[in-house]
Amino acid sequence: MTRWSVRVDPAWSLQAWRERARLGLRHRVAPEQLDWLQDEESSLLDAPSLAGAPGPADAGATIGVPKAFVELAATCLCHRDPQRLSLLYRMLWRIAGGERGLLTNPADPDVLRAMALAQAVRRDSHKMKAFVRFREVPGEDDAFIAWFEPDHHIVDRVAPFFARRFAGMRWAILTPYRSASWDGQALAFGPGATQADAPVEDAREELWRTYYANIFNPARLNTKMMQQEMPARYWKHLPEATLLPALVRDAGDRVQEMHDREALAPQRRIPTRTIPLRGPATATGDALDALREAAAGCRRCPLWEPATQTVFGEGPRDAQVMLVGEQPGDTEDLSGHPFVGPAGQLLNRALAELGIDRSTLYLTNAVKHFRYERRGKKRIHSKPQVTHINACRPWLMAEIEQVSPKVIVCLGASAARAVFGSSFHLGRDRGQWHTLDDGTRGFATVHPSWVLRQPTGAAQEDAYRLLLGDLSTLAERSSSDTQHGVT
Ligand code: SF4
Repeated sequence: MTRWSVRVDPAWSLQAWRERARLGLRHRVAPEQLDWLQDEESSLLDAPSLAGAPGPADAGATIGVPKAFVELAATCLCHRDPQRLSLLYRMLWRIAGGERGLLTNPADPDVLRAMALAQAVRRDSHKMKAFVRFREVPGEDDAFIAWFEPDHHIVDRVAPFFARRFAGMRWAILTPYRSASWDGQALAFGPGATQADAPVEDAREELWRTYYANIFNPARLNTKMMQQEMPARYWKHLPEATLLPALVRDAGDRVQEMHDREALAPQRRIPTRTIPLRGPATATGDALDALREAAAGCRRCPLWEPATQTVFGEGPRDAQVMLVGEQPGDTEDLSGHPFVGPAGQLLNRALAELGIDRSTLYLTNAVKHFRYERRGKKRIHSKPQVTHINACRPWLMAEIEQVSPKVIVCLGASAARAVFGSSFHLGRDRGQWHTLDDGTRGFATVHPSWVLRQPTGAAQEDAYRLLLGDLSTLAERSSSDTQHGVT
């Protein structure tokens, strides 16, 4: 049996692997006859290079494979496992030999292995998106460098995400095997680097740590999930990691403090006198401030009475994107600000992952008062009824009229009903773009609190991915239209 060798360079390149694989198929070289080499590897059996072999009889023949296989191969090739090259060729050989439905057999050992490799690459890509931290380059304006150590060859795969997310600044991501840089116009790739090539810390990290310590919610602490989401090997990339041991250690005491606080009666901030709903046309001064002031005294439905205060929308009054949730939660009711509780933190995480700057968004709710049931000391969220949504709708419509966003994203069925009407069905219409009568575009997705209500582990991760996938259309839109105020 004649043996041949082929070299893939760079080892994660689909194009390079595909050219070699085509060569193998056209020469009719069976998988067991082919040594796949990468980097500086040499053939153990000293097999000659297939590239130097005489031209095959069917050099012009085309080889068609399912698109799903090409996508799977592109992902698998980013894995560090050296066996992936021969694994993919073996699968290609089988598909070309007539097993067109190979990928639909999840029990096949080759398919199983390829799926596992692809999953590991996807997970590593997700971690890179979440844990890369840029540091300012001393002495240069608006130039940043990040150091990251991925498990797999994912820099080329993930770099376009950072180009979209940080399109307006110059940056470089250095890794041990490869570097990527963006000059504001184009991506470029180069050789690997060392951690010493990246700045150690910049002035903004203290600010970031202060912010992180403030948003850390000890009541939501789940160390097992935290370790899954943020494995210790990534901590060295994260400025906030130095805070985590103390935050975790003190979490129990802080939760006890929160419980003690819950026993106190909330500080009510509802004016004793009813202020009538005033539309923007009659509002004096800044119409949005006037609306906020008027809503503070609203009694259009009974929800005002047990609540602490009205939680009105917040954000730039010329925001291009408005996010509409269902109603304030316990934390929002006490603080008076929308999306600052656990669901808000999950939303922050999703926005950060997608490169969407929360401060450019206008955030509000379909219903402005917290509806809850009291169980002992706790106030448990209770879904607003249609009558509450309808009663509160004029406030939302007035906010939309004043802010005049280009895009409205509804989080959850209640918000979707308030914006798109009673015929909207979240299960059926989720993620689809709609146009309102005034031309405003929008879509609905799940509410972050729905994600948090899923069982922990894979189900919650899947739910989070669903939310992220829907919101990613905003990030994509921003990359094609930076005027939307989404970075
Ligand atoms: S929920 Fe809305 S309609 Fe009902 S009292 Fe509060 S602000 Fe008014």
